[in-house]
Amino acid sequence: MQEEPTIDTLNQTNNINPVTNTTAKSSTKKIPKKRDEKWQRNIAKKARLEGISYESPVAKKNKKVEARNLKPACSCRAKCFEKLSEEVRQTIFENFWSGCKSWEQRRQYVADRVTKTVKVRTKKASRRKYNFIYNFKVNDKTINVCRVMFLNTLSIGEKYVKICVSKKNESGMTEHDKRGRHVPANKTKDSIVQSVLDHISSYPSYGLNLSTMYKQYKEKMVRAGKSESEYAKEWFYRKISNLKIH
Ligand SMILES: [Zn+2]
Repeated sequence: MQEEPTIDTLNQTNNINPVTNTTAKSSTKKIPKKRDEKWQRNIAKKARLEGISYESPVAKKNKKVEARNLKPACSCRAKCFEKLSEEVRQTIFENFWSGCKSWEQRRQYVADRVTKTVKVRTKKASRRKYNFIYNFKVNDKTINVCRVMFLNTLSIGEKYVKICVSKKNESGMTEHDKRGRHVPANKTKDSIVQSVLDHISSYPSYGLNLSTMYKQYKEKMVRAGKSESEYAKEWFYRKISNLKIH
């Protein structure tokens, strides 16, 4: 059963998918089911990475996974809510969820913002042998915040922070994300194709022309620190989008 189209990205993505788009049924080429499923999986994977809502293709009945949202500021005694405006918090949240292009990058971000300190003395017996100190970098200034402020601003759980910190090695870098797929050099092209598909999928409609879409794609890639060999050239972007749209 098709859901009513909403502003939700995935549904919009469905609209541009020739297989699920009912209006395009007769006029378009059939996309093999396997490939369509792969797209759906990739779309969900991408959505999860970016913290936007999606329907999980893994779970039964296309379970809807809600988008990540900025959670309320703390109300602690240290008053970190006075140091970070809602606007800044929103920006931090967005940079974290849309700026990080991989789980590894995200893990690194958290690891960089959290310092683990060993508790030297404890007054009462505590199960915790260490403390976490959380901070955000705002305009090159490091602002220490409490746990609630940190977790709620990034919309992550404490468990995730622990994982990120535990992966930190002596050089301060997190271990290679083992859950993530190792990308050998010859897979670079695949990842470029994927980046284009992902980008096209992120558009609600075809209101924009391809030149604009490509421009935004390129900007996004550059912002993510990709070198020229790591993202598609315009002709290639167009080629892939033509394959996908028509
Ligand atoms: Zn606080």
